[in-house]
Amino acid sequence: MQGTQRGGLVPGLSPLDRRTLLFCNFILAVAWGQVNFTGDQVLRVLAKNEKQLSLLRDLETQKPQKVDFWRGPARPSLPVDMRVPFSELPSVKAYLKSHGLAYSIMIKDIQVLLDEERDAMAKSRRLERSTNSFSYSSYHTLDEIYSWIDNFVAEHSNLVSKIHIGKSFENRSILVLKFSTGGPNRPAIWIDTGIHSREWITHATGIWISQKIVNAYGKDHVLKRILNTMDIFIEIVTNPDGFAFTHSMNRLWRKNKSSQPGIFCIGVDLNRNWKAGFGGNGSNKNPCSETYRGPAPESEPEVAAIVDFITGHGNFKAMISIHSYSQMVMYPYGHSLEPVPNHEELIQPVGSRWTGLMTAASSMPSASSSGTLDNMASCCQPHRLSPQPRRHGWHYRPS
Ligand SMILES: [Zn+2]
Repeated sequence: MQGTQRGGLVPGLSPLDRRTLLFCNFILAVAWGQVNFTGDQVLRVLAKNEKQLSLLRDLETQKPQKVDFWRGPARPSLPVDMRVPFSELPSVKAYLKSHGLAYSIMIKDIQVLLDEERDAMAKSRRLERSTNSFSYSSYHTLDEIYSWIDNFVAEHSNLVSKIHIGKSFENRSILVLKFSTGGPNRPAIWIDTGIHSREWITHATGIWISQKIVNAYGKDHVLKRILNTMDIFIEIVTNPDGFAFTHSMNRLWRKNKSSQPGIFCIGVDLNRNWKAGFGGNGSNKNPCSETYRGPAPESEPEVAAIVDFITGHGNFKAMISIHSYSQMVMYPYGHSLEPVPNHEELIQPVGSRWTGLMTAASSMPSASSSGTLDNMASCCQPHRLSPQPRRHGWHYRPS
């Protein structure tokens, strides 16, 4: 999810008018049955040192619902971006001020952006219906993506097939696309998108990559060489329950939808549920946290399905998990400062391609998150790609 500086209530309104507008938006949201984020802001905080970083981490520990980190506290050179609900803004801003933590307002009112997004989707959907086409420059629901998958597989059956690898907690199908030119159990590459359900641009990226593969095969010699010796597997909707929920109820839902007896808060951060440094730095044991790791490694059906599939296959050579926000390349392991044995090999492709975009700070290891992906491709040490996040959007129309 990429932040922008747009948004905000209508300028020139008096405080009373603003409160009235907020209230009206809230009532409308209740009527639609969707969570409303009117007045919620995204604050960018610059921590000067480790002590200030730990003060930011304390914010989440004290009250998980108070802040939602879009870019968590990793190290002092990196800004921290956090969504703060409207009701919590006064106390959070007071907390930051009292500890000398400088902040700026990145997004003044998240709901304004979400309303714009919903309007753009409705407009695109009308156009798709009138032209009987699928727009690669618009977001889609789970049903629309699954329907696109069926059409896509039917159209390109010489190269693509659909594999059902399991069921989600709410009993939705978990689907994987297989791109193969034949041969039994070839070496394989895994790509997943959307494990964090609110990161809609990643689902769009998975669709775009899929379309790009079928368009480029036969023309692009690198891709042809890969597909003549390897298979590519893409899981576009890695968290189907969460994704359905982002469309029906809560646009900013990140976790899956699993529940446990006697625990009020629902959902596990699927990217903290892998058996790799489970429970370590960057994950949370509090079920109400956005980074809740779950009761045990691979406890979640969405994670277990991938693990079973990949270990059952037995010949995967690479795993790539695509997320949005932050523009970073991350590589194993997030829970440790120790470089993995093939550290040099891992950073080499990134370094040679994107050297000009890398910052000096990016080469410094940082333990940022644990339990992320399994032992074959466990996330993640960050590599920033630019000193400041780029604000322009992604281009994702396949060519
Ligand atoms: Zn993510």
